[in-house]
Amino acid sequence: MKQGKLIVFSAPSGSGKTTIVRHLLRQEELNLEFSISATSREKRGNEVHGKDYYYLSLKEFKNKIKNEEFLEWEEVYRDNFYGTLKTEIERIWAKGKHVIFDIDVSGGLRIKRKFPEQTLAIFVKPPDLNELVRRLKDRGEESEEKISMRVAKAPAELATAPLFDEIVVNESLETALKNAYDLVSGFVNG
Ligand code: 5GP
Repeated sequence: MKQGKLIVFSAPSGSGKTTIVRHLLRQEELNLEFSISATSREKRGNEVHGKDYYYLSLKEFKNKIKNEEFLEWEEVYRDNFYGTLKTEIERIWAKGKHVIFDIDVSGGLRIKRKFPEQTLAIFVKPPDLNELVRRLKDRGEESEEKISMRVAKAPAELATAPLFDEIVVNESLETALKNAYDLVSGFVNG
């Protein structure tokens, strides 16, 4: 099978990485397809199975870990498992496309270590922690408790930024979108 490239976007949640990834997916000339992760977390509001995630029960998820079906997986929050199925990458490469990931920092770095030459790993940095909290609250999809859980992880996640190939600061969204586009375009065409 012909292998394509892997574009990883990682960041603390609320940094705006999902917005950036969605924007890039709309740029047809980049020839990207989203890697749909599997997760054991509950489905939120408008999310769709097989589009945003493959939603699995905790038991199903653990079975797939045991059967070595994951390229990488992580217990991002307690009992909330997330992972990339090997079949997902194969599915996208078989279509002749490059894979774009929206995953947590450890998962992102693991993919970079597995495929060092083929991967461009980009860290999306929020302007500061207060802004991160504000964005998570504005999103209005989760309880205070869940938001606190996400914010608590942010400092450790921010500390991993230097391990990525590139950092995009999301202060002005417009500038962040342009910077991300230029990096990805240079990599897939290079
Ligand atoms: P959310 O619950 O907001 O959709 O995602 C929570 C965190 O899990 C985010 O940082 C997201 O990037 C990460 N995540 C999503 N999919 C994967 C995956 O396949 N592997 C890993 N390691 N993390 C993921």
